[in-house]
Amino acid sequence: MSTTIAAISTPPGAGGLAVIRISGDEAIHIAKQMFRPMNGTPVSEMEGYTCAYGTFYDGDTALDDGVLTVFRAPRSYTGEDTAELSCHGGHYISEQLLRAAFALGAVPAEAGEFTKRAFLAGKLSLTQAEAVMDLIAADGEASHRCARSLREGAVFRRIHAISDRLVTVLADLAAWADYPDEDDVPEVSHDALLEKLHGIRTDLAAAADTYDYGRILREGIHTVLCGRPNVGKSTVMNALSGFARSIVTDRAGTTRDVIEERVRIGDLVLRLADTAGLRDTTDEIEQLGVDLARQRIAEADLILAVFDGAEPLCDSDYALLDEIGGRKAIALVNKSDKGIRLDLSAVEAKIPHVLVVSAKTADIAQPLGDALKALFLNGAPDPQSGVVSNERQRLCLSRALEQVNEAIAAVSMGVPQDAVTVLLDEAANALLELTGERATGRVVDEVFARFCVGK
Ligand code: GDP
Repeated sequence: MSTTIAAISTPPGAGGLAVIRISGDEAIHIAKQMFRPMNGTPVSEMEGYTCAYGTFYDGDTALDDGVLTVFRAPRSYTGEDTAELSCHGGHYISEQLLRAAFALGAVPAEAGEFTKRAFLAGKLSLTQAEAVMDLIAADGEASHRCARSLREGAVFRRIHAISDRLVTVLADLAAWADYPDEDDVPEVSHDALLEKLHGIRTDLAAAADTYDYGRILREGIHTVLCGRPNVGKSTVMNALSGFARSIVTDRAGTTRDVIEERVRIGDLVLRLADTAGLRDTTDEIEQLGVDLARQRIAEADLILAVFDGAEPLCDSDYALLDEIGGRKAIALVNKSDKGIRLDLSAVEAKIPHVLVVSAKTADIAQPLGDALKALFLNGAPDPQSGVVSNERQRLCLSRALEQVNEAIAAVSMGVPQDAVTVLLDEAANALLELTGERATGRVVDEVFARFCVGK
């Protein structure tokens, strides 16, 4: 018999409605003692997927009127009997109702426990359970589309198809190793094996490549705004974020620390860090800012390099161009209202996306949005084919990829097949861990620890 868990499933604070969810063998029995329906039908006789209006009680004290919805196992989110109490969304009412459920034998649900029970009941794969978190966190159309397809099992299907192929290769190898002299067990030819492994590697790498796209949609694009002092970085930042957060002055070197701002441009979110200008400085505090700027540039998804278009390029502009060369970057040649005196072709030689703008006098969000689309959304993977959604999934994929690469090297060098089998077994295990088909309790616990209570 499972314990019966209860939690408030709606966010804290006042609202139109709050929902208390109770799941487990005793859920209906507990709800029955907390609820008197208007229509007089006993709660114990309510069928699954039905609801009733009535009064919620804590013992003999009427707390609120509202709606009770009953779900009967196995046709519920968790697969267990479930009662959902929808009451007025005040903090006091929902807390009192939750306490009443505890007094009647329910225990507090842990973070993600409703979804964990759904996973353990086989209602969701591990990646589909993770999608529940992504759906809650989605803050734009594209991230929502990825989370929806993850929820519908796109990643599970994609990875499962690859692990099926690995398992077939393993079965062929095992049959050949066990019955090498049997006529009806075909020999696993070296070339055929290599061809299959190369195909698997290609598909694993393609799946792993979707991670960056998914991360960018979920977390936003980690962006560093850089350029020498006074070119207009703070002005750009303020223009994008809509209000003056950075300090804008005429004196060089006033933006000392790193300020981060989230700016939505179309379907993408920029996580914009405005940093101290990159230049050699003897000021110790400022040097800290410069070091941080270098580190941020090294780690960023995107570099927005600002130049003063009204002046010719100077040594530190060239140094910045050299530092950025080859990275994902957009050059903002600023102050176009003063006329352009900068050598545009020298900038274009290092940064293919160059926008001539005037952050102070004209809209920069529109041209920037177009450049961002070209950089991040062109050739983006189709969410329906499965976009890897988190670090756990990515790590499983990279483990599988590493083992398959080693197996390919081993086959090429003529290493005995049982050694190859060990490597491929490991690869298959990593994929089965990703889908949750062979995840340890620890892995499962870690996944659900990221959830909020009530989900
Ligand atoms: P930062 O040191 O790179 O952050 O530069 P600021 O944003 O503080 O700007 C330095 C100076 O350039 C300020 O006086 C701004 O008003 C001015 N400025 C910034 N952008 C423009 C622009 O597009 N046109 C003109 N004319 N001045 C600008």
